[in-house]
Amino acid sequence: MLLKRLEVSGFKSFAKKTSFDFDTPVVAIVGPNGSGKSNVAESIRFVLGEQSMKSLRSKRGEDLIWNGSTAVPRAGRASASIVFDNASRFLNIDFDEVSVERTVHRDGINEYRLNGSVVRLKDIHELMAGANIGQSGHHIISQGEADKILSASVRDRREMLEDALGLKVYQYKKDESVRKLEKTDENLRQVEALRREIAPHLRFLKKQVEKLEKAEEMRSAAVERYKVYFKREDDYLTRAAQRIGTERAQREAELSDIAARVQDAKRVLASASEDTRATRIIELSRELDAVRGKRAEATRKASRLQGEIQALQRITERASVNATEVTHLADEGARATESLRSGTLEGALDFLTTFIGKLRALTQSVSSSDSDIVELKAQLQAALQEEEYLAGLESQHAAGLDAIRAELESARAEEREKERALFELTTLEREARHQISQLSGERERLRLEEEEFKRELAEAAPLLGREILSYATAHVPNELPREEQEREKRDLEKIKIRLEETGLVGSDDVLKEYKEAAERDAFLEKETGDLTAAAAQLRQLIVELDTELSKRFDEGLAAINTEFTKFFGLLFDGGMASLVRMKEEVRTRPELEGEAEQPLDEAERQVVDGIDIALTIPRKRIKSLVMLSGGERALTSIALIFAMSSVNPPPFVVLDETDAALDEANSKRYADMVKALSDKSQLVVITHNRETMSRAGILYGVTMGGDGVSKVLSVKLEEAVQVAK
Ligand code: ATP
Repeated sequence: MLLKRLEVSGFKSFAKKTSFDFDTPVVAIVGPNGSGKSNVAESIRFVLGEQSMKSLRSKRGEDLIWNGSTAVPRAGRASASIVFDNASRFLNIDFDEVSVERTVHRDGINEYRLNGSVVRLKDIHELMAGANIGQSGHHIISQGEADKILSASVRDRREMLEDALGLKVYQYKKDESVRKLEKTDENLRQVEALRREIAPHLRFLKKQVEKLEKAEEMRSAAVERYKVYFKREDDYLTRAAQRIGTERAQREAELSDIAARVQDAKRVLASASEDTRATRIIELSRELDAVRGKRAEATRKASRLQGEIQALQRITERASVNATEVTHLADEGARATESLRSGTLEGALDFLTTFIGKLRALTQSVSSSDSDIVELKAQLQAALQEEEYLAGLESQHAAGLDAIRAELESARAEEREKERALFELTTLEREARHQISQLSGERERLRLEEEEFKRELAEAAPLLGREILSYATAHVPNELPREEQEREKRDLEKIKIRLEETGLVGSDDVLKEYKEAAERDAFLEKETGDLTAAAAQLRQLIVELDTELSKRFDEGLAAINTEFTKFFGLLFDGGMASLVRMKEEVRTRPELEGEAEQPLDEAERQVVDGIDIALTIPRKRIKSLVMLSGGERALTSIALIFAMSSVNPPPFVVLDETDAALDEANSKRYADMVKALSDKSQLVVITHNRETMSRAGILYGVTMGGDGVSKVLSVKLEEAVQVAK
């Protein structure tokens, strides 16, 4: 037996814990009206997760809880549990025994437990649906609801059939797939909307990035050119500074050398001006003039003496001259000459004076005598000698003067030479100073160029990136003439301006934003792809499930129809009944009052699959369900319920006074059908019918005492008949 036991506690009239063991294929529950039998069937509905309070004959959860009586206080909660024998694993859970329990508290909170563990209602539903114990409760026929399936709408009827055929699993799967599809489509719409939303921004960013990339290309090309330019500039500045430094040092060394030489030359020239030669020349000239005067005097004297001699000789021609005296005078003159030669000029003058005195004395003593002539001749001789001497002296002085003059001349030439050299040196000095000042000018210009270079570097770095500062490592293919380097500078300036104009250099934010937006778009695109694929899969799955559902439904329907006709024929002694697939238009919104007869608007119409029941009763012209009597309805329902149960037998079926309306003959047939069905499903029948009771293995009598509490006892058939009354 799959259904092993039912335990109820605090549930409706079962104030106390009460158990039912279902050890036989048919268990009958009997008892007087109002004793609590239907509460048993309801407790089974309850525990299996029934959500309709109406189906549990209540308005709210609290109504299910023992409400107390004068004798027994009300309970805080109602609980019911069913124990299944799951050795066959008809429930898809790996336990030999499975207990399902539901508790409802007064605050309306429900708890579900599976083998003692709290689970969700959904878990219970799934577990039960897998074992053909569906939610529609086709296996639990409540009191008076036997013909529920007849009065149901065509659509609900179809659902009940699907449930009975165990197709709910497919339906669930389909519904879930439809839900997933709707969600997927919704997500897809959202994702597409998002993509559309970001698309213009992304396009804008893309254009920006393209511009940026171009700018970046331009920038990196400019960086390379700039590096070479800077390197050249740096090399040039370094070289120029070195050159200027070296040249300046050289020029300064030269200058100090020249300046020292100028000083020397000046000193030499200054000392040369203190020459005494000019004074000496003047002295010598004066001496020469004196000698010349004396010589002229001597010459004049000699001439005079010669004249006197000639006069005396003319006298002598008239008077004789003592030869001895003249000889004597001559001798004296000779001696005087000798002494003049060895003596000084003053000595000679003294001699001459003495000589002249003696000569006069001779003349006086020997007037107009030869001796006078002799003496005069001697004097002449002396005068001539003096003249000769003075001539020698004169030429001596003249030569000395010439020598000094020559000396002076050469000294002057030398001085001029030195002056010229000094002039040359000062020219050189001036030139050297000029060059140094030129170098200072060059250095100043170079300093300005260095500053310009630094300024260019400082300006280029923020625009072109700091990598530009590593220009020192740049490869410079060749040196450029300055004017070409200047041209390069101007070209680079133009590029820089163009780069600045793009306004995009260094806009890392744009790149980052584009990257993020593109990633997001790519993600959304992928998402769109995934969602589209998922939607396609779901659509495919839905189609497959629909096909499968339809196929199985058709097969099930055919099988049910066979059984339906069989049971119907059995109960009605002939006739025919079958379930027919049909389509029905239904409203998409709840019907308003007075609307039933109105034609449906297009938008409000929905065509649904449904099931109609076609039947013919022997000897009667009944074609429609509404024309059936109460008993006939009950028979038709029973035939259908049994047909459904026998085609796809649920583990158990609960029938609550389904047989209430049957006459005796049909009661027997019903009892037989119950017995027959119990081969396939376990049956719990609540009945007042003896025939039905007689087919049960176990009979439970439910009674209610004055305390309003239902009590259960196992009874024998005869007792049961009694209890039931
Ligand atoms: P019948 O044969 O007439 O169909 P029955 O045996 O099926 O009767 P039930 O309908 O199962 O009887 O039980 C109804 C009884 O349960 C009533 O007496 C009702 O007062 C009692 N009952 C229902 N709900 C509660 C509750 N919450 N607390 C106490 N008693 C309750």
